[in-house]
Amino acid sequence: MRAYLDHNATTPLKPAARAAMLAALEVGNASSVHRAGRQARRVIEDARDQVAAMVGGAARVIFTSGATEANALALAGLGRARVLVSAIEHDSVLANASQAERIPVSADGVTDLAALERMLDDPRPTLVAVMAANNETGAIQPVAEIARLAHAHGALVLCDAAQAGGKIALDLATLGVDALTLSAHKLGGPQGAGALMLARDLPLAPLWRGGGQELGSRAGTENVAAIAGFGAAAQAARADLVDFARLAALRDRIEAALRAAAPGAVVFAAGAARLPNTSCIAMPGVGAETQIMALDLDGVAVSAGAACSSGKLRQSHVLGAMGVAPQIAATAIRISLGWDTRAADADAVIEAWIKLWTRAGARAAASAA
Ligand code: PMP
Repeated sequence: MRAYLDHNATTPLKPAARAAMLAALEVGNASSVHRAGRQARRVIEDARDQVAAMVGGAARVIFTSGATEANALALAGLGRARVLVSAIEHDSVLANASQAERIPVSADGVTDLAALERMLDDPRPTLVAVMAANNETGAIQPVAEIARLAHAHGALVLCDAAQAGGKIALDLATLGVDALTLSAHKLGGPQGAGALMLARDLPLAPLWRGGGQELGSRAGTENVAAIAGFGAAAQAARADLVDFARLAALRDRIEAALRAAAPGAVVFAAGAARLPNTSCIAMPGVGAETQIMALDLDGVAVSAGAACSSGKLRQSHVLGAMGVAPQIAATAIRISLGWDTRAADADAVIEAWIKLWTRAGARAAASAA
């Protein structure tokens, strides 16, 4: 049996998303006026409604190729001279806001509100970008408080909800943010679809121009099948939220078992409110790459912090911002559960990890003592 416990990297496609995608493969171009075009248009507009409903409604939903593009579109398109980002944002925010000032986080990986308030004391038009939940640690950010502070200072707020979507309830009005981004493949939909949602009709400059699709905000013929899969997954995610909460019990069981076997193991962001599915844990003395390969040989898929496209591991800026020493961060793996995770998957990772710890970790701990 293989246990796939890397849902924060990407989720298996939900059956409803697969069915919607297959049905949408045969439609026409949504810009055409004939019947085939109108069919495609209907698929896209239904998906737009489904994705908007997932966050309790939005003034605008702009489909993109994923959360990376949605973040880039918001950061460039909302046109604020000054950008403040939490120090633990995803690279798709950090790299598209290279001049941004970084808001520090606590040792538990939660954005420092007092520091943000000091940074907001500046007359320049400002955009604050803070994620709903962190992809590496699962730490949930105080987005509603951040939005209140930012608005009191006249700033706009962008919330990257790529990892929170489908895992915890998200409501645009309750969060109080101006813009929010989602990624289909993190919530049971396909890779290559995402959305930028606006709470109200803000001016938004497009990243590129052309055929005027997405009301001029994102030119290019729509990826209808992926958008259909996104819509179906968004709808399923709403219904599955309660089921997602059951994962917290499995996650806690894994953490308790690992810490009982290896008292030196460290769970990051343990003192923060976390996504129910995410565990970032260090086995001191054994490198993350060694752990990932050993677990993979035992049929268990996990990752080291964020998976980056090269497949190579590098120092996690998230753990770094939390003040974790580099030699400890280098031993951190991320176990992320999801909609198809069963108790047997939790047993598999516990067994494989303890096997490795008994072989390598205990020896490393003994030689360090
Ligand atoms: N933001 C966060 C927090 C993410 O975890 C990811 C995916 N790793 C992205 C943005 C990018 O999403 P996409 O893969 O859809 O471009």
